[in-house]
Formats: sequence, C-alpha cells, structure tokens
Amino acid sequence: MLELHCHTTCSDGTLTPRQLVETAIAAGVKALAITDHDTLSGWDEAVQAAMALKTRGCDGLEIVPGVELSTVHGDRSMHILGYYPNRDQLLPILHERLASRKRRAIAMQEKLAALGYPIELPQMGHGMAPGRPHVAAAMVQAGYVKSSQEAFDRFLVSGKPAYVSYEPFAAVEGIRVLRDCGAVPVWAHPYLFRGGEVTQVLPDLLAAGLMGIEVYHPSHTPNQIETLRWLCQKHNLLITGGSDYHGPTPDPKGKHAPLLNGFNLPLDLLVPLQRASSQSENC
Ligand code: AMP
Ligand code: ZN
Ligand code: FE
Ligand code: FE
Repeated sequence: MLELHCHTTCSDGTLTPRQLVETAIAAGVKALAITDHDTLSGWDEAVQAAMALKTRGCDGLEIVPGVELSTVHGDRSMHILGYYPNRDQLLPILHERLASRKRRAIAMQEKLAALGYPIELPQMGHGMAPGRPHVAAAMVQAGYVKSSQEAFDRFLVSGKPAYVSYEPFAAVEGIRVLRDCGAVPVWAHPYLFRGGEVTQVLPDLLAAGLMGIEVYHPSHTPNQIETLRWLCQKHNLLITGGSDYHGPTPDPKGKHAPLLNGFNLPLDLLVPLQRASSQSENC
C-alpha cells in the first residue's frame, strides 16, 4: 500500500521512473516515494507516468517526492531519507553532491585502470547519480568478475583496492539542510550503520533535527524493528518503512531480494509525514 524507499535509473535502480510506477501499481502500491541517492531527477517522470496511467483507467498512485542523502557520521557511511523537500532550495546542494559522486566514480575508474581493469562508466548525464553498483556492473560487463557481488567483495568495499569513500558530507549537516528545505529527515536503515550503536548515535541526529526513523527495512530483524518502534515512541519520531527497491534484479548483497511493497505498510503512516513536512521548514 505505502512504499517509502525506492530507487530508479536516476541513481542505482534498474527501472526507469515510469517502469517503477507501473511495477508499483501492479504490486498494489497506493503511495510511492521516489528516493534516489542524491538526486530528484526521477520525480517528474514518475508523476507524469502515474497521471497517464490513471487517465487510461489504472489505479491511482500518489508520488511522494523524496531523496536519500549519502552522508557520513564519524567516518562511516550513513543514509538520510528526506520527504517533501522544496525542490528549488535543495537542488543547488544536490548539484554539488552529484558532482562529488561523479568525481568519485572517475576516481574508482582510475584505480581500477591502474590495477589493470579498465572499465567504461555509464553515461553520467545531468541529474544522474553514479554509484558503486554502476562500477560493479561495468566490471561484470567487461568480464573481470562473474557478479556484481564479486566486484564489491574484491574491489569496491571499504579496505579493498578500488574503494573510494564519499567526499564527506556530515549526516547532521544533511539533516539540517533537509529541515531548511522543508523536508522531513528520516534515518534510513539504522542497523546498516557501522559506526556505532543505534542508541548511541541517535542523540546527535535528534539534536540536528531528525524527525523520523525508517523502522521497516528488509535488512532489519523483528527484534530490531521492535527496538526502533520503541525509540520512535520514546522520542516522538515518525515511523517510516520501505523495501529499498532497486529493481527486479537480485540484491547485489545477495542477503535479501526486496520486493516492492514487501511490507504492505498502511497508508495511515503517510498522514503524519505530510503533516510534519509542513512543520519542518525554517524557510
Ligand atoms: P554508493 O552509494 O555508491 O556507495 O553505493 C551504495 C550501494 O551499493 C548500496 O545501495 C547497495 O546497493 C550497494 N552496496 C553497498 N555495499 C555493498 C556490499 N558490501 N555488497 C554489495 N553491494 C553493496
Ligand atoms: Zn541504492
Ligand atoms: Fe541506503
Ligand atoms: Fe536506498
């Protein structure tokens, strides 16, 4: 019913926004957030596709404008989801983040070339967010590895020879930026964070203006979900969830193959999120 975490070909998903909308409608989704990494480029196509399908008699699908910011906390990667940002305010900041992602993709390409594995990167068009999955796919394409997972394990994870970290953008800064843009900042998949215990890290994020936690994520165990629900209650935070859908291809980590609408979350969860977005901005 409600799906709040999805990627398209504007970042590292394998479906175009239009294909994602079609898949979502077929899966029974009623409200779908487009949360590409560091880009808003998928929104318009998704909205247009949903409208076109509705006029042709398909079920209506509400598109929730979103983004997943790549940030660091300490020196570890942390993802912050933002819902309903003011596009014009956020775009200049994302412009710099995308330029940084492009520099990082080229740095990985250069490292691989120096190791004897030249690759071709995909077209990094305006508003497109390249990431490690694109580099992994290029390595599979070139025949250096059998799978994207092998590319990650041998070359692309932290400590491996072609790894390049994000140019630092602090999570607390990302949260503040989202608030300034009228968005609702939500900590994505907290248990994938490798830089500290969830309960130790949360106070810093709360102080920066965090408004929600992604409680439902395919990587979370039932116990972790319970803990996150409890933390939301304790700190008066919004509960969100989503499948972190990257398309019908298997999850590159191989641990879980998320299904779109896998949690079948109730639409009711969207109402407080919409309400919070009108309270978020300092703009
Ligand atoms: P990036 O934002 O460029 O660092 O890429 C992050 C994406 O890479 C995640 O959304 C995952 O899809 C994928 N990924 C991250 N870590 C791994 C890993 N250890 N194995 C396979 N895929 C991974
Ligand atoms: Zn991704
Ligand atoms: Fe993420
Ligand atoms: Fe994601």
